[in-house]
Amino acid sequence: MKNMKIKAWGCVGIMMLGVLIGLSSIAFLGNDVMIVLIWILAIICFLTGMILHFVLIRCPHCGSYLGRLYGPKCSFCGRDYNKTE
Ligand SMILES: [Zn+2]
Repeated sequence: MKNMKIKAWGCVGIMMLGVLIGLSSIAFLGNDVMIVLIWILAIICFLTGMILHFVLIRCPHCGSYLGRLYGPKCSFCGRDYNKTE
């Protein structure tokens, strides 16, 4: 994958999926075991998205974590993070 924004949104997508899984626990009201299992799954999913974001969304030049990606350039070294040379 070349485009950093696509990667970032993919990770956010995984986090949102975790939230959706958490919300789906409403469908299992009255079934405490299922609710706990769904919440564990939701938290794992959310944390996976967060960790992937932290690991993947890094500047290829200086290695800084880019956070929410402000603009097309790295906010630490000022270079284009979509170009690796
Ligand atoms: Zn940089």
